[in-house]
Amino acid sequence: MVEPVPPVEPVETLAPVEPVETLAFDREHLWHPYTSMTDPAPVRLVTGARGCTLEVDGREVVDGMASWWAAIHGYRHPALDRALAEQAARFSHVMFGGLTHEPAVGLGRRLVEITPEPLRRVFLADSGSVAVEVALKMVLQHQRALGRPERTRVLTVRGGYHGDTFHPMSVTDPDGGMHALWQGVLPSQVFAPQPPAVGAGEAEIATWAAAVRELAAGHAHELAGVVVEPLLQGAGGMWPYPVECLRVLREVADEHGLLLVFDEIATGFGRTGHLFVSELVTPDVLCVGKALTGGYLTLAAVLTTDAVAPGVVMHGPTFMGNPLACAVASASIDLLLAGDWQAGVRRIGDHLAAGLEPLRALPQVRDVRTVGAVGVVQLDHDVDVAAATDAALAAGVWLRPFRDLVYAMPPYVISDDELDRLVAGIGAAVRAG
Ligand code: PMP
Repeated sequence: MVEPVPPVEPVETLAPVEPVETLAFDREHLWHPYTSMTDPAPVRLVTGARGCTLEVDGREVVDGMASWWAAIHGYRHPALDRALAEQAARFSHVMFGGLTHEPAVGLGRRLVEITPEPLRRVFLADSGSVAVEVALKMVLQHQRALGRPERTRVLTVRGGYHGDTFHPMSVTDPDGGMHALWQGVLPSQVFAPQPPAVGAGEAEIATWAAAVRELAAGHAHELAGVVVEPLLQGAGGMWPYPVECLRVLREVADEHGLLLVFDEIATGFGRTGHLFVSELVTPDVLCVGKALTGGYLTLAAVLTTDAVAPGVVMHGPTFMGNPLACAVASASIDLLLAGDWQAGVRRIGDHLAAGLEPLRALPQVRDVRTVGAVGVVQLDHDVDVAAATDAALAAGVWLRPFRDLVYAMPPYVISDDELDRLVAGIGAAVRAG
């Protein structure tokens, strides 16, 4: 047992800064996601967060985004704060090469237990994009081990999103993603049509399935795997699709000796109403992230079956298995499973479905759809993000629309009153955007 360290006097830190100075420095020096450094879009200052509310520009607003799917238990949850503080008091990080620790093993145990049976091997990665990189590396390596090094491409569907590093970008939608920016640099992948919408009839699914089968058969000699976001495509268009399509992909993969990879970085941990969509159709490789740590720290994981697991994976990030992230992830999973998360997700989904339905009558609204605890309003034009964000904030809600979509996937702890406010905020954003 290591002796506790005596308390230390706090060191003098930088003097408090006025919000206007903070924002001015940010504007001059910090890159934000997907925005220009030289002509930045406005950003707002967050000074606090608790439960389902954020303090933005000095005002409490309901968070509709759960920090991009991650903060499922809301902010400053005592159980997660405690897990983090307790681990920090032990040690915050040690290298994972040649060493291990209880937080990583405890998390590994939980992940193996809560995902489908054959997924027994766990690689801890440091972000969702890295998890997808590692998954694709494993898929290619698997084919090499089988003496098929020429199988270097993967099949995916249009409308997907898998992250911003190079291999994940290559399997992201070729039109909506960043392919145009990186022509000649991205690996070339095989794109099947986007799956039909939820509620599609048998004939429509059969047409899609035939196209997928034909494409897979034509490219089988060079394909290593299939990768999709199961059941719900997220950042590629917030597009829910029928589970039958996953069964087709499973069959196609088996028929041609391809590994099936499910990217559940957004859908995992209950967001669609299933703890993991992989419970419905079992993949060979599963990527999880985002809500894994309840939104506290960056961490992701790749789970595989024994059959896939390559002997050596030549990948070893500096912060692999970070103990703080692993400890808070275990606490987040325990918290999720201790409560009736399914009822919670259903309550949010029902509330959003009922609340957003009237927006369908607006002339600029093309579609309203909900799945699990996600609500989406699709417009007939690209949203004016600044105007929509302002309108949502004026209604007391934080939203981050993109393309033609105003959408929300709030923390599961959101109250009914906050849901009412969220629905009103989405309505305001739709009208203004
Ligand atoms: N896959 C999916 C389905 C995602 O939604 C995301 C993140 N938006 C990623 C991968 C990439 O994860 P990260 O941002 O943690 O790299």
